[in-house]
Amino acid sequence: MSAMPPPSAEPLRHDPDVLVIGGGIVGLFCAYHLRLGGSSVTVVERGPVGGPQSCSYGNTGFVGTHGAAPLAEPGVPAQGLRWLLNPESPFSIRPRWDGELLRWLWHFRRACNDEDAKAAFRVLVDMKKRSLEILRELCASDGLASAFTAQGMVLAFRTPEGFEKGCRSVPQAVENGVPLRVLGPGELRALEPDAEFDVCGALYNEEGAYLQVPGFVVEFARMLRGMGVEIRERTEVVGFEVAGRTVERVRTTRGDLRPHETVIAAGTWSAECARKLDVGLTLQPAKGYSVTVKAPRNAPRRPALLSEGKVALMPLGERLRFGGTLELSGMDDTISRRRVEGILRTVRSYLPELEITETLETWSGFRPCTPDSLPFVGRAEHYRNLSVACGHGHIGMGLAPAGGRLIAQIIAGEQPDMDPAPFRVGRYGGRAARRLRLRR
Ligand SMILES: Cc1cc2nc3c(=O)[nH]c(=O)nc-3n(C[C@H](O)[C@H](O)[C@H](O)COP(=O)(O)OP(=O)(O)OC[C@H]3O[C@@H](n4cnc5c(N)ncnc54)[C@H](O)[C@@H]3O)c2cc1C
Repeated sequence: MSAMPPPSAEPLRHDPDVLVIGGGIVGLFCAYHLRLGGSSVTVVERGPVGGPQSCSYGNTGFVGTHGAAPLAEPGVPAQGLRWLLNPESPFSIRPRWDGELLRWLWHFRRACNDEDAKAAFRVLVDMKKRSLEILRELCASDGLASAFTAQGMVLAFRTPEGFEKGCRSVPQAVENGVPLRVLGPGELRALEPDAEFDVCGALYNEEGAYLQVPGFVVEFARMLRGMGVEIRERTEVVGFEVAGRTVERVRTTRGDLRPHETVIAAGTWSAECARKLDVGLTLQPAKGYSVTVKAPRNAPRRPALLSEGKVALMPLGERLRFGGTLELSGMDDTISRRRVEGILRTVRSYLPELEITETLETWSGFRPCTPDSLPFVGRAEHYRNLSVACGHGHIGMGLAPAGGRLIAQIIAGEQPDMDPAPFRVGRYGGRAARRLRLRR
């Protein structure tokens, strides 16, 4: 992948049909579909596109049908409490008096039931399938082909209980069109001849695919510029001017814009951005880490999920990346050595012979998480010309393509190809939203 374009010091040039706030994967896919529909589009991004401030920078890039289970499932609260006592566990909450967090946890706890989890799973699998189709088509073009790989993925289980639970999930997955199957030990060895897994069993999803991150994001932004999308880096939205139910003006660090439509796609910062417009979003930053090492000689060739440890492993050519942990610790971006050590310990327990010689990068990013794991995609209900696309949580790379198309269809007033109801922006109500209703 080639280097990032230099930042521009020019002021913003024109007032577009649509302004997209945020140049992560979600904002870029909104811009792509809006532009395909014929709108003039400007994206403003506070940092460099594909830079480490964005969650779309250092993640493990799994796309495809795998990983559609919502975070809120039956049994998660009890498991979460056990994990809270372990400083190396894949999940933690920093205890604090924070009304937004308590509200989020309350809704999360409510979503931890069988019925809601199954419904969310169906919706997310569908969105991931549609996204995979879009990616396949898009990545057939030269510029993006090398950043997309579809060679299946392995789900490895260390414990008999974990493997049994994994096997129990196969029928529901298959019923929803996820081609998951149990791998015999010989089949795992044949798939991954270089790696020595110390596991009780494994599943295989032949539709497992991944994006090279952040190369895909950078190259996609280049392609969008070629399509006529204006992408303004190092440009931050700092405020809005509103008249009645219309966003009239958007204030940025490089001047004001008067777009006809505005889309908030600022990842975890969307809540802060929306709050300026009195729109309440029940969204929490869920910090995760990735560790990128020089690819060991005996690394797996395909992506793998080390299931009980909740660690994803991603081959990136000369590099190998591990990603994991979910910390509800607010916007604190410090890297906890103990959690990083926990990730590496998990990797060593599944792949004891893996020869890690050099760590190239340790990164943390904020997943923008909603309580039910369904993103907010649609109109902000009290405005005529404001939409929201955020909250894609732990699977944003795999949901963004279809979510972007949905936003473009909604803004164009077209019949959406997916039911937009599960993604409704106002589904949790919220103090800010209520305040706005009272004011009108
Ligand atoms: C360790 C880890 C592993 C993961 N692995 C996977 C995976 O394998 N597969 C998968 O599908 N997902 C994965 N995810 C989740 C995925 O990374 C996110 O869902 C996705 O990147 C969210 O994209 P986004 O565009 O919403 O947010 P971001 O990528 O964070 O983009 C938002 C952008 O908005 C900009 N912004 C914020 N405020 C403003 C403002 N006021 N003005 C202008 N710009 C602003 C920010 O600078 C940022 O660049 C993982 C996440 C983590 C942390």
